[in-house]
Amino acid sequence: MKTLAYAAHDSNEELKPFSLERRSLREDDVAIDILYSGVCHSDLHQARNDWGGSQYPMVPGHEIIGKVTAIGNKVTKFKVGDNVGVGCMVDSCQQCDPCNAHEEQFCNDGMTGTYNSKDRVTGEMTHGGYSQRIVVKDKFVLTIPDNMDLAKVAPILCAGITTYSPLAQWNIKAGDSVAVVGIGGLGHMAVKIAAAMGAEVTVFTRSESKKEEANSLGAKHVILSTDKDQMSAAKKSFDFILNTIPVPHDISPYLNTLKIDGSLVIVGVIGELPSFHTGLLLGGRRRVSASLIGGIKQTQETIDFCAKHQVYPEVEMIKMDEINTAFERMKNGDVKYRFVIDMDSLK
Ligand code: NDP
Ligand code: ZN
Repeated sequence: MKTLAYAAHDSNEELKPFSLERRSLREDDVAIDILYSGVCHSDLHQARNDWGGSQYPMVPGHEIIGKVTAIGNKVTKFKVGDNVGVGCMVDSCQQCDPCNAHEEQFCNDGMTGTYNSKDRVTGEMTHGGYSQRIVVKDKFVLTIPDNMDLAKVAPILCAGITTYSPLAQWNIKAGDSVAVVGIGGLGHMAVKIAAAMGAEVTVFTRSESKKEEANSLGAKHVILSTDKDQMSAAKKSFDFILNTIPVPHDISPYLNTLKIDGSLVIVGVIGELPSFHTGLLLGGRRRVSASLIGGIKQTQETIDFCAKHQVYPEVEMIKMDEINTAFERMKNGDVKYRFVIDMDSLK
């Protein structure tokens, strides 16, 4: 199937229109017409080769919402016309312990990413959601409940699961004191989800302009991270901190704000961090950890949780040809809070 898309052709070039072939249906495949595609900061990192290993041409996009147009002859879970989603993974070995434990993101053989990854059958590069359609193995396709607003749901497929997963893993519950660092796509979803779990949420932001809005997202308190006095006043305040900052930075000031036995979980930066003094951990049995997206079962759980609690991302809808401006704005922290591409604009 000939499919229009937008692709990065090099790490320092803008995304441009591109044409690709989607594969013919395998017996367990679902063909999807893409309606909306979220723009994650990871798309920018990978288009720019920030993490190394990027392959071009690359069609980014792993927050995909669409409608089923055809199914392989062994598919029973989906039918033509269903509203569905695709997140960050499209395959895994399906045999190892992590896969059997519904944690395909930790597949011993390496998960297959929705883009910039190799198809397990043909070895061809996978291409993501900045395109008209996609073909995905049924086990990696998510069900979108009928009562959900399709135009807003795409960011749940990455920003949602990536923040829900650690909150669930650390068993966040009513009354827990949770802080979120960096209020972008992931951060604002973390605030909403943690608040829906009943936690008392605090926002760490470097952006004055986000201070007022934090409350409407569900946060009770806001700390301007650039203000030393505000930072030291927050000493030993939090059970749990979710850190979404996308670039290397010193985590010491945040460690200081954890209670005894508190955890700081990194989901933002992939790379080296400046060192910190272990006294910050010793003096409170504090922990530093990190988390990678979440399994398919838990992604469905996240979608269903968001449907139940009516948790939706704040979306700025863009057209496909606005993607390069959107990337630039995201890099400058100028998005409130997630760009979503209306794929109808790619004709
Ligand atoms: P956004 O750009 O939407 O948000 C990041 C936020 O971090 C900004 O809004 C800003 O918040 C803050 N920030 C940005 N730059 C800086 C800086 N230089 N110093 C301090 N704070 C900064 O990104 P996303 O939410 O889409 O993604 C965040 C990170 O998470 C990315 O690195 C992405 O690759 C990664 N990611 C990780 C996943 C995982 O599985 N672990 C999955 C998906 C994404 P404020 O203005 O409030 O300070
Ligand atoms: Zn993402």
